[in-house]
Amino acid sequence: MQDFLYAPGILTVDLNALAANYRYFQAAVGAARQVGAAVKANAYGLGVRQVAKTLQAENCPLFFVATPDEALNLKSIDPALPVASLGGLSGCGREVAALYQAHNIWPVLNTPAEIEIYNALAIEGGSPLPALIHIDTAMNRLGLSAEECEALSATPQKFSHIDIQYITSHYASSDDVDSPLTPAQVQRFEELSVLFPNARKSLANSSGILRQPQHHYHLVRSGIALYGGNPTPETSNPMQPVVHLNVRVLQTRQCKKGESIGYNATHTFDKDTQTATLGFGYADGFHRTASNKAVLYWKGQPCPVIGRVSMDLTTIDLSDITGPQPQSGDLIEVLGPHQDVDQLAASMNTISYEILTSLSQRYKREYI
Ligand SMILES: *Cc1c(COP(=O)(O)O)cnc(C)c1O
Repeated sequence: MQDFLYAPGILTVDLNALAANYRYFQAAVGAARQVGAAVKANAYGLGVRQVAKTLQAENCPLFFVATPDEALNLKSIDPALPVASLGGLSGCGREVAALYQAHNIWPVLNTPAEIEIYNALAIEGGSPLPALIHIDTAMNRLGLSAEECEALSATPQKFSHIDIQYITSHYASSDDVDSPLTPAQVQRFEELSVLFPNARKSLANSSGILRQPQHHYHLVRSGIALYGGNPTPETSNPMQPVVHLNVRVLQTRQCKKGESIGYNATHTFDKDTQTATLGFGYADGFHRTASNKAVLYWKGQPCPVIGRVSMDLTTIDLSDITGPQPQSGDLIEVLGPHQDVDQLAASMNTISYEILTSLSQRYKREYI
């Protein structure tokens, strides 16, 4: 595709920081337990090839993706990468099951029907197939219900040829330090996973790793915090920042008192004001909710977003800048030393996950 010589922004991904965050979790769980990595959605938008290679070098034992295509893509990067696919057979039944069998991808089986299909395939192939089994403990999205777990464990022939790698479940509110749901889920997980006494267990996501240190089980599944998101939002972020984003000024202008700016004139100037127009917008993942709300930085000085964020353009107020003003071609900090991904997300009424997974394909990406 294009070579990004004139890209509207420069996205820098710090792979050393990523590796340091991985080692932080490995130290937190101890050498006896393993740290898997969620790399779904192109490794939360950062670039799955570079992320997977970096974590492979840290001996990451299992990479979690969401879809069959993501699983196949990882295997095409390196067939040696151990891959688990969270969506199970993804509504595509036997066809996807056969793909997983052929490529040694481990599905996370989410229903009795998926288990039946996978077990039948394994019997036909004459050898057990590895898979994870997901039990639901509060989310009501995917996974076996308590009744389905009990029924399954009472009929071992139904999973006779499934080599259960892990029994898994997923926290609903582990980012919320006071949520009573988290201990309730742990209890449910304990009760239901004993139905499969020989299987290893996996429960914790990033926040769960730090919040529930007594419940790491055999494998934790880290995601957002590897990429620099704060897993403990009520305290300062223990993780290293991984993503830096700077966007270019297209032009600066002097707006007059009484004039407005942008679509629907949502901001009117109460004094003559110097502004800058930046070459990125909601098509780049700078969500429209940032309009008249988010703050960007020029040499550490805050520049409020004024007016509506448009598809490819965003306008900022330069009135509070002291010293040299930014000029056309200069870079304005969106994510960096003065603003982390959680702060930016808060100013858009969203979460770090959504910021990272919507990072634009138009940015030039640099891996350091
Ligand atoms: C995405 C995901 C994770 C990682 O969650 P984070 O909150 O990003 O750490 C873990 N487990 C499952 C099932 C997931 O879907």
